[in-house]
Amino acid sequence: MSGVKHAGTLELRGERLCLDFANTVGWHASDHPQEWLLSYTDLLNWSLHAGIITEQQNEQLLQDAREQPSLTEGILTRAINLREALYRIFSYVVQGHAPKSEDLAILQEAYIEAISHAHIVPKDDSFTFSWQHNEHALDFPLWSIAHSGRELLLSPELRRVKECPGDGCGWLFLDKSRNQSRRWCNGQDCGNRVRVRQHYQRRVAATSQTDDIL
Ligand SMILES: [Zn+2]
Repeated sequence: MSGVKHAGTLELRGERLCLDFANTVGWHASDHPQEWLLSYTDLLNWSLHAGIITEQQNEQLLQDAREQPSLTEGILTRAINLREALYRIFSYVVQGHAPKSEDLAILQEAYIEAISHAHIVPKDDSFTFSWQHNEHALDFPLWSIAHSGRELLLSPELRRVKECPGDGCGWLFLDKSRNQSRRWCNGQDCGNRVRVRQHYQRRVAATSQTDDIL
């Protein structure tokens, strides 16, 4: 698989789990989105890549999944519904619109489901939710994603969420720069593409002005 792009090699540039998960679609804001979660195995690959499941857990879940294909199909559908709701919610907020109530309901339902499986455990000097006691549940990856979505939506960090302005890109990220100057999902990629196009447009405009003079 080396060199081949797949769910487990996607760039994680969202700075928050829920945003990275929303970015498991390429060209999300275009009319030709590219889906990277085509199977439950893709969901596990991405979850391992994003650090929400361990290697050992991945192997166990893969093995369990083979015995319950109908269950994993349902979980993939739930994952994609949650992801699209997260994308729309944050994208609407970025644009200054109120998210749709049906999308908030999807997130709320996923969050309540997540919390119903969580244990409160000590972490550093504080406490956190943990799902490790239930690590063999097939929908384990969805819980921390839903939790992350709810946390970000209710956090002051919400105002730092941005959507890449690259044509049709639609990648979401949290701008962690001190002066909030991050514009692109990836300056090498979308940033460059737009700069090249603007340069080309300026050259075309300059040439046509010269033509007018002549
Ligand atoms: Zn972009």
